[in-house]
Amino acid sequence: MRTWRPALGVFLSAAALGCSAYAPRRPSPALLVTGAGVFGHPGADCLLVRDGRVAAVGRAADLAGQALGAAHVDGGPGLLLPGLHDAHLHLLDGGLSLSQADLGPAKSEAEAVELARAWAAKNPAGAVRGRGWSYDIMPAGSYPTRAALDAVFSTRPVVLESYDGHAYWFNTAALHQAGVGTDARDPEGARFVRGPDGRVSGTVLEAGGELVESLAGGLTPAEKAEGVRRGLALLAASGVTAADVMSGDLEEFEALAALEAKGELPVRVFYSPPLGGDLAVYRRLRERARGRLEFGWLKGFVDGAFESKTAETLEPFPDGTRAPAWGLEPARLKALIREAQAAGFPVALHAVGDAAVRASLDAYEAARDLPAPRRRHRVEHDEVVHPDDLVRFHALDVVASMQPLHADPGGPAPSEGAWSRNVGPERLPHSFPWRALTTAGAVLAFGSDWPVVTQDPLAGLAFAQARKDGPLTFDEAVRGYTAGPAYAARREADLGCLDPGCLADVVVVEPGAKKPALVLVDGVKVP
Ligand SMILES: [Zn+2]
Repeated sequence: MRTWRPALGVFLSAAALGCSAYAPRRPSPALLVTGAGVFGHPGADCLLVRDGRVAAVGRAADLAGQALGAAHVDGGPGLLLPGLHDAHLHLLDGGLSLSQADLGPAKSEAEAVELARAWAAKNPAGAVRGRGWSYDIMPAGSYPTRAALDAVFSTRPVVLESYDGHAYWFNTAALHQAGVGTDARDPEGARFVRGPDGRVSGTVLEAGGELVESLAGGLTPAEKAEGVRRGLALLAASGVTAADVMSGDLEEFEALAALEAKGELPVRVFYSPPLGGDLAVYRRLRERARGRLEFGWLKGFVDGAFESKTAETLEPFPDGTRAPAWGLEPARLKALIREAQAAGFPVALHAVGDAAVRASLDAYEAARDLPAPRRRHRVEHDEVVHPDDLVRFHALDVVASMQPLHADPGGPAPSEGAWSRNVGPERLPHSFPWRALTTAGAVLAFGSDWPVVTQDPLAGLAFAQARKDGPLTFDEAVRGYTAGPAYAARREADLGCLDPGCLADVVVVEPGAKKPALVLVDGVKVP
């Protein structure tokens, strides 16, 4: 069902878009990396890297002649993989989370308040910020309250993000700071949870960054830049050599551009700001993106999450209710996709429920008469996909961007109870359908959604293979973290691969290791 395109057209469009224009600007010395094997190259155990690219791949004995003068790095029993590419994470949020209160361990509202109190005692300035609370700290269907926070924090604003980023819990001081009354109307696209008296009770669902920042009192550009810097350092150390940074804000872009200008961006970043923003602004950012900083996708929200019953589903939740409102209602979604695609912008749509996935595919399909965007469109999360829609990813050349650890009931995603209750037994067999999508010909791009779960790509790689219902092979899982994201970016010719000519982004992973033994970006070792 895939539309046939003449080969010449593919060549011309790739050249016209400058897809392979990237040149590592720091000429790197020749490096011979040996290990137990090279992914995608049976029989090879060695890569020769020169000027930031793979110069040759083969057996060490055969490459010795070409490698004269090259430095040698011995990867020992490690396997040489293409650099791992996290196709979906939140860099600023993740970087900031490293210094915020971690509410992940809380089993109840009271425990979460106690964790926030302990953090606040050590961090006496500014708002109390924390993240990671699970919906399961409250009885089914209810949300934490400002009253619980007010008892401990009467004057200091407190803003606590849920583990999945779809809900914020705040106290009355934060409301005062934002100038929001307890009888306020819902902000556009968001919903205040209300008590029996109709007043704002202390949680807001699907709130935008502006509201959250006004509750917490805002961050300075310097604080944001520091969050970005810390986040990038952690990614590089984890073997993430490229990251698709979702829902990036403008200050995040400036922080990234400043690092790139100084030659201090440690990994590749595909910066992806919100869909629905000013395309003229995005065009200017796209022109300014260079080197390791690339302009990625426009990120839109078609729905919310199963835990907070904001996922758009074809059939109601098991209790008969439905999501209160679309993130982007289908007609508006179609209009936005056409507008973005006409301006050459590819789109990444957050779609968790099967109705949201279908609406996303419908919107992409309705824009097929326009020239293809410079990267491939994608659907993020795909937690439940109706069986009829599985083949449409391949047919429409849309990438399924999924996060293996979201499906890990024993893993760091703490919300298994609310999630599976709202998905319900009928839909459960169609949840996290990596296997079914792969079988249906879809390209998968794996990521973490950090800080929703750990940024560690080796943990995701392990779980993608270990999952009981529908595991992937090792090769499939690695492609999900390498060739898949490169394909989404239309960079499959030189990213996510270890063929001669590919960019020398390499990780060396020893069997059973928790961290890569070696990480190269542009052929240079990441410290
Ligand atoms: Zn996300």
